[in-house]
Amino acid sequence: MAQADKALVSNSTIIHLRKVEFIMSSEQVLYIVATPIGNRDDISARAIDVLSSVNRIYAEDTRHSLPLLRHHGINTPVTALHEHNEQAQVSGILEYLQSGHDAALISDAGTPLISDPGFRLVRACQRAGVKVSPVPGACALTAALCISGLPTDRFQFVGFAPHKRAARKLWLQPLANLSSTQVLYESPHRIVDCLEDICEMFGMERELCVARELTKRFETVLHGAAAHILQGVFEDPNQQKGEFVIVIAGKPGSQAVDTSAEIALDRALEVLLQHLPVKSAAKAAADIFSMNKRDAYDRALALQQK
Ligand code: SAM
Repeated sequence: MAQADKALVSNSTIIHLRKVEFIMSSEQVLYIVATPIGNRDDISARAIDVLSSVNRIYAEDTRHSLPLLRHHGINTPVTALHEHNEQAQVSGILEYLQSGHDAALISDAGTPLISDPGFRLVRACQRAGVKVSPVPGACALTAALCISGLPTDRFQFVGFAPHKRAARKLWLQPLANLSSTQVLYESPHRIVDCLEDICEMFGMERELCVARELTKRFETVLHGAAAHILQGVFEDPNQQKGEFVIVIAGKPGSQAVDTSAEIALDRALEVLLQHLPVKSAAKAAADIFSMNKRDAYDRALALQQK
């Protein structure tokens, strides 16, 4: 009898778990799927699986994505979702998902939402309780960073710089003082101008990596001082073609603390140094920011010498 009860209990538990599993798997999902940034085989088996099995794919430019999808044997219907129609499309897509369909979002290349559309849709899904799930893969940012030879432990991705020179310089200025590696995207139309501005704002000697056409036929990766890279790109028109990621080394000799904390620390030290000697200011800052006294002292000294 006891045995039978146990069996009954464990059977009903199994049935119960299966029900839960069924409910979970029937939940509608918006998949955010990474596609290649050049080489069309840089797509995961799972991405192909998901893109083949969802009811609809939302793509930035359907004409651009169809050849890739067909190359991988994916015949799912594709609808355009780009920065100009995203806002208008969101409620319709939500309804579509909530009425029992799965969908995937892809961009022209790489990971959606990374300098690409999708943010509004993901937010709307989150707010409406629709599950959003990533299918990770290629991204120009991480592809460039990992071959840049520059520190990857702390980096900041800043997307595209402003197009106009004056705005770009203002935008670059605060980045030049940060200790973390900076990563930006650039187009062929502005690569020379942007490198000129980096030389001016970060200094000719700042170490750079310019990664061009990654995973494509004319992939080129330039490493070196900003001035040398600018010269190399300026003198060779071929180096001005294609897609670029610029990776910039952090300011040499600056503190290894978090970017926002770094700015806050400097501000606090500037005020403290107006009222206290270096040692006391550093001690107070170390207490406030729960940091090493020696690091706070070095930073205070550097600020005072400025
Ligand atoms: N979502 C994409 C990603 O995951 O990297 C980025 C899209 S953004 C609109 C396009 C920019 O990414 C290009 O202008 C270029 O700066 C960079 N990029 C894309 N593919 C690249 C490649 N193969 N090599 C170098 N940079 C690339």
